[in-house]
Amino acid sequence: MNTTKFQFFLPFLLLSLVASGVVLSGVLQSESKPGSDPDFDNGTLKIQGPPKVVIRIDDVQDYAFKDAQLMLLRYHLKNEISTSIAVIPELTKSDTELLTQISDSLRIGSEVSAHGWSHEDLSKLSLLEQEKALGEAKSALRQLFGVNVTVLVPPMFGYNVETLMAMHNTGFKVLSSVIDLQAPMRRPDGIVTLPATVEYSDFVDGKWVSKSVQALIKDVDLSVERYGYAVLVIHPQELMRDNRMDSGAVQDYDSLIELIQAKYSFTTLSELSKSIR
Ligand SMILES: [Zn+2]
Repeated sequence: MNTTKFQFFLPFLLLSLVASGVVLSGVLQSESKPGSDPDFDNGTLKIQGPPKVVIRIDDVQDYAFKDAQLMLLRYHLKNEISTSIAVIPELTKSDTELLTQISDSLRIGSEVSAHGWSHEDLSKLSLLEQEKALGEAKSALRQLFGVNVTVLVPPMFGYNVETLMAMHNTGFKVLSSVIDLQAPMRRPDGIVTLPATVEYSDFVDGKWVSKSVQALIKDVDLSVERYGYAVLVIHPQELMRDNRMDSGAVQDYDSLIELIQAKYSFTTLSELSKSIR
């Protein structure tokens, strides 16, 4: 398994994005709209019902950041809080402990989404290549978990017009990137875009720096005020320090979830997409 490779891979990509002018942290303070989606400014978002919050766990894969992955999944299972699990299908097949936790999570209403096929940058592939990647992701996740996955979380937040066509042709219905690059909306082609609106940590000088619980709940509140929902994205490695679980980070995660739970209810991206008109 290329855990080590991935550990370096992700920060590198994030750094590249930062270097190219995409501000990843402080999503809600950012006014930048790079306009990667042609319909970015045309969306009219209407969410029905009380505000909901989605916890999106990205980069889930065999053996990687194992303690943090399992801690997050167990935490949500124990507290019966549904979550959105963005799995890298090509790298998820033999870690039986992880597979069991994901299957159990599905039983309490969590969802599995496709984080690409092999964590590739979809925007660099042709339409045919994207269709192949999404088709493979879908059938692998159906075989593993017996579910029809309809949510795509594009790796490195990257997608293009061909991605939307490939989604349409392979039966995906929801696309979740990040608010700096995508507006929440129901597109004319029927695909719902539901970007992450809050990032759990800032990525500074090649390291994840956790935000305070107070800052995070403020971001969640602002997101709800502005968009009618919040999608909080976390990578398991954000709860680790020097390759070990950071117990302080785990406590903070628990405090944050309790604060969110006192005000809002939790849901998944596919459920939330149904309330968007
Ligand atoms: Zn990723």
